[in-house]
Parts: sequence; structure tokens; C-alpha cells
Amino acid sequence: MLSWGQVRVFSPWKYNIDNAARTLLERDGWKAPAPDYLPNGREIVEDYLLPLASVPEIASGLKLGATVMAIARHGLDKVSSAKRDNTPFVVRYADAEGEHDVVVQAFIDASGTWSQPNPIGLNGLPVPGEVTSSDLVSYGIPDVIGSRRADYLGKRTLVISSGHSAINVALALMELQASDPNTEVLWALRQHGVERLLGGGLNDQLPERGALGLAAKKAMDDGRLQMLTSFAAQSIARRGPPRGRFRLSMVRRGTSRSIAWW
Ligand SMILES: Cc1cc2nc3c(=O)[nH]c(=O)nc-3n(C[C@H](O)[C@H](O)[C@H](O)COP(=O)(O)OP(=O)(O)OC[C@H]3O[C@@H](n4cnc5c(N)ncnc54)[C@H](O)[C@@H]3O)c2cc1C
Repeated sequence: MLSWGQVRVFSPWKYNIDNAARTLLERDGWKAPAPDYLPNGREIVEDYLLPLASVPEIASGLKLGATVMAIARHGLDKVSSAKRDNTPFVVRYADAEGEHDVVVQAFIDASGTWSQPNPIGLNGLPVPGEVTSSDLVSYGIPDVIGSRRADYLGKRTLVISSGHSAINVALALMELQASDPNTEVLWALRQHGVERLLGGGLNDQLPERGALGLAAKKAMDDGRLQMLTSFAAQSIARRGPPRGRFRLSMVRRGTSRSIAWW
């Protein structure tokens, strides 16, 4: 969450605090944040997750800085099937001291999707050139008005996807455009129109999410945001020096068109 610490979520605190966690925290004197306030990622970490991590019942079971690398059946190789269903698991994890194995009866995979973003290709695979151009592609929600400002100010940026992460980035790029009109923002969607993207509108159950859609719509109407619909990227080809111009080939409404990028 700290890697998107600058982004305000669309669910207020009242939806973000687990009841069992609240009971533990309040026992130790913690005061819950205002229920209707919309925190950003950093506030969720600092005002909720860090206090929760120091509650003794939680702290005693936490292993920080540990990355799970693999999970297997304890004592069974890949081809052994006898009693497999009832055999405990061995979890292999790595931390600063090296690799460790721990045997458990059950595990919960809550590893999320943030660190495993979708590649650009339509079929769920990277398009040719995507992996080798990874220094030019940012996944998730880069902090374009904060720590990554210099990478985006006065540049031409293509945002791909119709999710709320994309809306967040596109709107933040609009803010950069206000500082430097040379900042160009293009936004590519797979579907034909922008209706689904803006679907939330005023009637969205979570008002903040609808508000993002409305702000994006206004930027489109004002011509500050250029939409590329029915977009399907085909390849990325780099030309010139490492951080120079590159070319992204895409299919638009059945025709092939290339766009040049900085
Ligand atoms: C910018 C943004 C805004 C959002 N706003 C909202 C909102 O307003 N309302 C809402 O309901 N949802 C929102 N979401 C979605 C929300 O983030 C997710 O629903 C929620 O964070 C998912 O929680 P999670 O615990 O499943 O996964 P994550 O938050 O992704 O956490 C997974 C954790 O597992 C760790 N991990 C991954 N692999 C390993 C491994 N091999 N070993 C050890 N640890 C590992 C990661 O480091 C991470 O700490 C938002 C998401 C983003 C990105």
C-alpha cells in the first residue's frame, strides 16, 4: 500500500476496518479514524496497519521482510500421491538471513494482485517488446505528480486500461498538464466507447468513485484528454537511445496504426 500511498481510496474508513482488528486495537487505547473519511494508502498503513501490527497477539506471529517462494507437501516429492490430501505443507520463505522452511497444517494465500499486474497484450501475455521496454512502461499507479514527476512533466504519456487505477493516473497527469501544457495525455481502452468507464457517474454507490469518472469526462470534453477506443496493443519497438523515442503498434477498429512516443 505504501507504493500507492499517495492515492486516496474510494471506500471510507468504516469499510476498511475489520471488526476483530478493531476489538484488539480499541482494547489497547487506539482511536478509530472518522468513519466517513477517505484515507489514502499511506494513511491506511500508518493509522491502521502499523498499530495493528504492534498488537501483541498479531506481533507474536508476524515475520516481516519475508517472501514466500514456494509451498509444497511436506516430505512428498512431485510424483508421490499417497496420503497427499492429509499431508501438511512446507512453506519456503526468504528473509534477510536466507531461506527457511516452516511446516504448517494450512495456509491462506492473500498475496493480492498489486505486484502481479496484467501485461498489455490482449491474451494476457506481454506484447512483443514489452518486456525489453520495461523501463518505459509503469504498471499500477506511478506517483506522477510526486516522486515520478520529472519522468512525466512535459512528456507524452499513454494510459492503458479502463480501471480506477487508470482513472487516477490520467487525472494526475491532467494536473501536470496544468503546470506544463506540453504534457500530453492519451488514454487507450479496449471497449468501443467510454460509457462503461464513466458508468459510475453521479449514481455510483461510492460517491468518490463516481466523482473520478465525472472529472475524467470533463477532461475529455475539454479536449485535454485524448481517448483511443477499441485499442489493442500489438507490439512495442524501441528506436533511438535507451530513453528516446519508441513506437507502439496498435490495432484500432480493425485497422493497423502505429503511434510514435517519447
Ligand atoms: C490504488 C488503489 C486503490 C484502491 N482503492 C480501493 C477502495 O477504495 N476500496 C476497495 O474496496 N478496494 C480498493 N482497492 C483494492 C484493494 O487494494 C484491494 O482490494 C486490497 O488491497 C486487496 O487486499 P489484499 O490483502 O488481498 O492484497 P494486497 O493489498 O495486494 O496485499 C498483498 C500483500 O501480499 C504480499 N505478498 C505478495 N506476494 C508475497 C509473497 N510471495 N510472500 C510474502 N508476501 C507476499 C504483498 O507484499 C502485499 O503486502 C484499491 C487498490 C488500489 C491499488
